[in-house]
Amino acid sequence: MNPNRSLVEHPNLSARLYYAWLCTRPFWVYPPVVALLSAWAGPRAGWASAAGWFAAGLVAWTLVEYGLHRLMHVRTPWRRFRNFQEFAHLRHHREPDDLPRSLVTLRGSIPLSLLFFGLALLVFRSLVPAVLFHAGLTAGYVFYEFVHFATHARWRIPGLNWLQRYHALHHARQWNRTFGVTCPVWDYVFGTAPRASPR
Ligand SMILES: [Zn+2]
Ligand SMILES: [Zn+2]
Repeated sequence: MNPNRSLVEHPNLSARLYYAWLCTRPFWVYPPVVALLSAWAGPRAGWASAAGWFAAGLVAWTLVEYGLHRLMHVRTPWRRFRNFQEFAHLRHHREPDDLPRSLVTLRGSIPLSLLFFGLALLVFRSLVPAVLFHAGLTAGYVFYEFVHFATHARWRIPGLNWLQRYHALHHARQWNRTFGVTCPVWDYVFGTAPRASPR
């Protein structure tokens, strides 16, 4: 067990909250980004269209989440890529209690965010829809980090227990399945849904 585990289970609430804040600092950059992007582009698109673009971004996130997570588990002959998988994700499988490392670093998430924004601009060829789509995608990412961190911190979040159990299954014995964290649907679409436990 990681020694930091005791901090997240510290009897003092303010100590627990402070430690959670320290761990999740990379995560708190993004909610204001989502709010600012939405506030800027929402009135320009009209709120009905804005909700549509935002929802499309949210759905796209679930596919991005699935794809990136599955990529981290692909077996490859390329040593550099294997090292990257190890650094970016596989170490998290060996040390699931290492909470600061259970979040994507800003060094990883900012370039990815810019890349996805560039792709959205290329696809939509218009700034306002691209910004709203990106706000939805980023909101999906924020939700992912929250569900993932809460799962590893063993917080019980009402209404999200089923997602937390689903990710715990990925760690426990089905690491080559159950890649979805905020949305299990793509596991069923692409044939990586959880198998019933052997009796
Ligand atoms: Zn995890
Ligand atoms: Zn994994």
